[in-house]
Amino acid sequence: MRYKAPKGTQDLIFDRAGAWLEFVARANEVFSAYGYEPIQTPIFESTELFTRSVGETSDVASKELFSVRSMGAMQAMREGATLKGDQVLSLRPEGTAGVVRAIAEHVLVPQGAAPAKLWYAGPMFRAERPQKGRYREFRQVGVECLGATEPIADAEMIIMCMRFFAALGIPAEQMTLLINSMGDESCRPAYTQAVRDYEAEHADELCDECKRRIDANPLRSFDCKNETCKRVMDDAPRFSDYLCESCSDRFEQVKSCLDAAGIPYVEDSRLVRGFDYYTGTVFEVQVTAGLGTQTAIGGGGHYDKLMGEISGKDLPGLGFAVGFERILLVLEELGIELAPESRPFVYVALADAALAEDAFAIVQALRDAGIAAQMDMQGRSLKSQFKVAGKTRAAYVLVIGPDELASGTCTARNMNTHEETPVSLDTIAEDMARLL
Ligand code: AMP
Repeated sequence: MRYKAPKGTQDLIFDRAGAWLEFVARANEVFSAYGYEPIQTPIFESTELFTRSVGETSDVASKELFSVRSMGAMQAMREGATLKGDQVLSLRPEGTAGVVRAIAEHVLVPQGAAPAKLWYAGPMFRAERPQKGRYREFRQVGVECLGATEPIADAEMIIMCMRFFAALGIPAEQMTLLINSMGDESCRPAYTQAVRDYEAEHADELCDECKRRIDANPLRSFDCKNETCKRVMDDAPRFSDYLCESCSDRFEQVKSCLDAAGIPYVEDSRLVRGFDYYTGTVFEVQVTAGLGTQTAIGGGGHYDKLMGEISGKDLPGLGFAVGFERILLVLEELGIELAPESRPFVYVALADAALAEDAFAIVQALRDAGIAAQMDMQGRSLKSQFKVAGKTRAAYVLVIGPDELASGTCTARNMNTHEETPVSLDTIAEDMARLL
């Protein structure tokens, strides 16, 4: 085979493509109940938007962006031209930056307005080393709320995320909700410095990658999968000891809202999420079933400065994203199917190939009435049309032959019960609607 799906990508075929549609439908159901509206932003944006928002030293910005160039721009570059800022584009590695950019561009939260509450669904792209549960193209649904200031908004966001997992059918006992506060500009610098100092003391025990980022991004080592680094970081200073009073109060209020809502959680002071924009509450949901080393199925948090980075005007925000492919792996492992209910359809079988146009008219009449219908397009025998109808799980088969056309009636055969009901060709759509 000459062409294959690129490394780290996968085709979603049949049930898996159906599962994606169902995943999005359930997201819509849950998020709209909280007042969220859908948004679709471009799949590529200016590279700078991503590097500024997720942080230049983050893995995503420093090595995982896929850049996008038109052939014309490539040619111009070869001829020595320098690309303008708006020609330097990348595929989106996550959804938040694009949504926040759109909120700023369309002034969706003018002074004094209610928060903008938006949800999105679509593919994201990161040039990672592919492994189980980690791909180069993967799908997420996510939500962003811009303009809400109170800690209750953090709690609501976490509760909505857990509700979405419940709506997908993941049993509560399979999930662990981890929460932490990453502080703000008044307490984070001192904490970051304390971790930097600690890592500098233990530099000879850290992996090369962790060693390299001690200066620029010491907090990333909390995420390192290397066993020795994990052990070293277990004894690193804890954020909870460095939070300023306002961050600490806010975190306490978030926790008491979660307690009141009966949502169990584990405080994990080593939880630092991969993007620099987070401040204050962060959370992640982990499961063990089906995922190997990639245990996070979703996560998010609060961000104070991202809107300011993008538009020059601060506006607090919060959001989370949930990865579809990992959810599928978990559900498959747990034997839970995420499939939309398949729509019952009628198969119109031809007893005589010369009557194809008459059968075609019946199929159209059924579809005009909103009934799903199919017919043979390969000149098959009646027997093999019945086989196809059985295999494709038709609910009913209508056999159309010269006698049926002459008498104006045909029989509808229920493919489950094999019961046969006479139906009139004049009122076929109404009759079939009644039977289905
Ligand atoms: P993040 O945007 O990194 O906070 O990730 C949010 C969620 O997206 C994760 O919990 C995963 O479920 C999913 N995710 C992130 N990166 C990948 C990837 N490379 N492949 C598959 N799913 C991913």
